[in-house]
Amino acid sequence: LVSRMRFFGTTIFAEMSALAVQTGSINLGQGFPDTDGPAAMLDRAMQAIAAGGNQYPPGPGVLELRQAVSEHRAARYGLSYDPVGEVLITVGATEAVAASVLALCEPGDEVIAFEPFYDSYAASVALAQARLVPVTLRPSQGRFTFDPGELRAAITPRTRAILVNSPHNPTGTVFTRAELTTIAELCQEHDLIAVTDEVYEHLTFDGVEHIPLATLPGMRERTVMISSAGKTFSVTGWKTGWVCAPPALVTAVQTVKQFLTYTASAPWQLAVAYGLRHELEWVAALAASLQDKRDRLMEGLTAAGFEVLRPSGTYFVQTDIRPLGFSDGLDLTRRLPDLAGVVAIPTQVFYERPERGRHYVRFAFCKKDEVIDEAVTRLKRLS
Ligand code: PMP
Ligand code: GLN
Repeated sequence: LVSRMRFFGTTIFAEMSALAVQTGSINLGQGFPDTDGPAAMLDRAMQAIAAGGNQYPPGPGVLELRQAVSEHRAARYGLSYDPVGEVLITVGATEAVAASVLALCEPGDEVIAFEPFYDSYAASVALAQARLVPVTLRPSQGRFTFDPGELRAAITPRTRAILVNSPHNPTGTVFTRAELTTIAELCQEHDLIAVTDEVYEHLTFDGVEHIPLATLPGMRERTVMISSAGKTFSVTGWKTGWVCAPPALVTAVQTVKQFLTYTASAPWQLAVAYGLRHELEWVAALAASLQDKRDRLMEGLTAAGFEVLRPSGTYFVQTDIRPLGFSDGLDLTRRLPDLAGVVAIPTQVFYERPERGRHYVRFAFCKKDEVIDEAVTRLKRLS
């Protein structure tokens, strides 16, 4: 293994999902739903296969999906992207992030990301031989946020880009317009590119709305906007994502993407185009149901003795394990199958400086009510 990857072993998701299978535990670790996406959309994928749509699609993706993405950005956010030249279909958001960082960062460039961050960011930055500069999100009035002064102080002449994930995994924070304005102003002042990971764009709660950074004044031209069908339509295994950006940025990302995977799988693309055009009510119902599941799990975890932080979006709640007498989330999650028959994710692995997140553990609530209830019953054994 090359030295720039020496700190990267098996991802925590693979480790913890394998542990769940080995021990027969309830898996509230890796974020994937245990129910299927909209039936008509699943049918479309099967129809696409039956109709012989099984060969390479065009490099930038099936035109119909690029059109559907473009229409969706326009209708939902008032953002206009040309399906030809400003939209690129990728193998999930993961490839989109990797290709963006590889395409836009020189070795030695600095990329700012809010810590804790989704684990692929650090690996993508390392592959580019760039340097990830973390800015820590800390709880304040019940939600994780950043200090604008710390963000400003993280910028140097080598800073090239900022990775912005909102709704944010693993904290569940949805950045406010004020927070996004701070980011946007700094991007413009220092001529930075923003790479936005918006895979949970539809999954927000309590009337909180997701605001894409690209909708702020002066930001469309410097933002690589990324999303994916996985979370929106409960098809995480379809690995179908997209990038929207001005032509020069999309061309750069596509130049890298074409040699990573050439193109993304064909049958899902027609089905996701159908989903974006016909299943947004299904998605709204999914978000409402996830809000109930969030409340259900929060209540249960609180009763089990955790301190629970309320997320405004995503699949995840963050807990502080100290009230239960534990101090290290990695140690606890490795023992949790034995202690309680449940698997969760130690949040510290999403930090550049793990000590800052040592006492947090992430639980996923994108599960059937009875699964959440059984997990809570088991977790009550901890206290
Ligand atoms: N970004 C974040 C913040 C995520 O939580 C995930 C997991 N869905 C991804 C990217 C990866 O998305 P995909 O499966 O589309 O590659
Ligand atoms: N996004 C999901 C999570 O954060 C799954 C990620 C993965 O399996 N790589 O749990």
